[in-house]
Amino acid sequence: IFTERVIMVKARKYVVKRHFQGVPKKDDFELVEYELPQLKPGHFSVKTEWISIDPYFRAYNYGTPTPYDQFGYQVGTITQSKHRDFPVGCRVVTHKGWCDYSVVTNLKETYSNVQILPDLHGLPVELVLGALGMSGVTAYFGFLEICKPKAGDTVVVSGAAGAVGSIVGQIAKIKGCRVIGFAGSDDKVQWLEKELGFDKAINYKTADVSKALKDAAPKGVDCYFDNVGGELTAAIYSQMNLYGRVSLCGCISSYNEDPTTYKTTSLLPLILFKQLKVEGFLVPRWLEPENRMPEAIAALAQWIKQGKIKTRSHVTEGFDKLYDAFVGMLAGENTGKAVVKVS
Ligand code: NDP
Repeated sequence: IFTERVIMVKARKYVVKRHFQGVPKKDDFELVEYELPQLKPGHFSVKTEWISIDPYFRAYNYGTPTPYDQFGYQVGTITQSKHRDFPVGCRVVTHKGWCDYSVVTNLKETYSNVQILPDLHGLPVELVLGALGMSGVTAYFGFLEICKPKAGDTVVVSGAAGAVGSIVGQIAKIKGCRVIGFAGSDDKVQWLEKELGFDKAINYKTADVSKALKDAAPKGVDCYFDNVGGELTAAIYSQMNLYGRVSLCGCISSYNEDPTTYKTTSLLPLILFKQLKVEGFLVPRWLEPENRMPEAIAALAQWIKQGKIKTRSHVTEGFDKLYDAFVGMLAGENTGKAVVKVS
């Protein structure tokens, strides 16, 4: 007689109780404990190892309804399985929110398919949440397909020392561009110039931004990869060249503002008279209907192995530190990709 061993697993998950107002507060979150449901055929359970810390989690205050508990993606190991293609011990990337255990019941999740960890050629596993995952794919397509850089172009990147920006700048160097990055501390500036090979990095918090950019790019800016928006972006637009290209990836400087009270900066005349091409994008456009992720990951992995792209993870240890890691990232504590190591 076959008897099934029933394993009860206690799981924890942070859920957002209410929309954030300004900087997210600790008591906007609630830690919920519950027993994982028993697996049915086709289901499997995953123990989280690493959780990605992302600005979009803050940005999704916009739009309704907001299924916060599905935001946040992670890499983990399958601990129980009733799915023959997803055996115990296999590592997967899932979109299950901030949880330490989860059950996958549907391979097509809200934001992406459950993905078996690709061959990382010995590179650290957490890179699937950064340079070999969403941040890398965002940088790769968002820069190459929207800015369409040419060798010799002057490229500016804001949020340059972050997960996406640091990859964009290095891809621009690979493509033969002159690269200028803006970041929020002298340590980040040092890292960009000394280790990543940016031609110039500027601390936007302490520099006279317009003057520093004029000195660094006397012939003007051809491509701008924008991660932050706001006043910095306005200063950069004013030094764009005719027919410049702007890839609008993010506007983190506005995410803590109330979207109903947005200020509009008068960028339209600059866009008009310089005949700029400005294009906002969301990375899923390169994942559906055709999934072009493997193309980007293959190129990025090769560049990493060749030493042409350097990566850095900003690791916070412990499931109970998720909130601190999140607000720390929003405040600029991370250099490179912010991740939480759960186990
Ligand atoms: P980062 O690793 O860059 O972390 C966020 C960084 O933003 C902080 O380290 C901080 O760096 C900077 N920052 C915070 N507040 C401000 C501010 N007021 N002005 C300027 N900089 C600020 O995050 P990601 O690389 O994951 O994301 C970068 C951007 O790309 C975000 O806007 C994000 O929303 C966007 N994004 C968009 C995607 C898309 O599909 N379009 C996909 C992924 C990300 P510093 O010390 O330099 O201030």
